[in-house]
Amino acid sequence: MNENFQCRQCGACCRIEGIVRLKDDDPAKIAAHLGMSEADFIAHETEIAPDRRGLVLKDRADGACAMLDENNRCRIYPVRPEKCRTFPYAWVNDNSFEYCKGLQSNLKSEVRGSSCEKTF
Ligand code: SF4
Ligand code: SF4
Repeated sequence: MNENFQCRQCGACCRIEGIVRLKDDDPAKIAAHLGMSEADFIAHETEIAPDRRGLVLKDRADGACAMLDENNRCRIYPVRPEKCRTFPYAWVNDNSFEYCKGLQSNLKSEVRGSSCEKTF
C-alpha cells in the first residue's frame, strides 16, 4: 500500500502521543551511536513502559520524542527502533493520514492515478 511513499520529513510522527518501545538489543546499539555507555543511555534517555514490559524512549517536555533534534531530525536515525523503521510501511494508526504529509501526498496521487485510469 505504501510502496511509493515519500517521507516529507515533517517530524509529525515523532510528535504524536504514544510510546516508542525498545527491543532488548536497542539500548546497546543506540548508546553506541550516541557515544554513550549503555547504562547512561538507559538511565537518562529511557523509562519503564506504561505496561511495565521493557523500556521506552523518553519524551521531551513538549511531548515529542526526546530523540528528535531542534532541526526536526532523528538523532538516532540509523539505529532507530523497529516502530520508527516500519512506519508507515508495515503499520499505521487510524489517525496517521491526519498528520503524515507523506501519506496525504501518497493518497492524493493514488486518487489522481485512479481517476486517470478511468479517464483514459
Ligand atoms: S526515535 Fe527517531 S524516528 Fe523514532 S520517534 Fe524518536 S525521533 Fe522519531
Ligand atoms: S509524519 Fe510522515 S511525512 Fe512526516 S516525518 Fe513522519 S513519516 Fe515522514
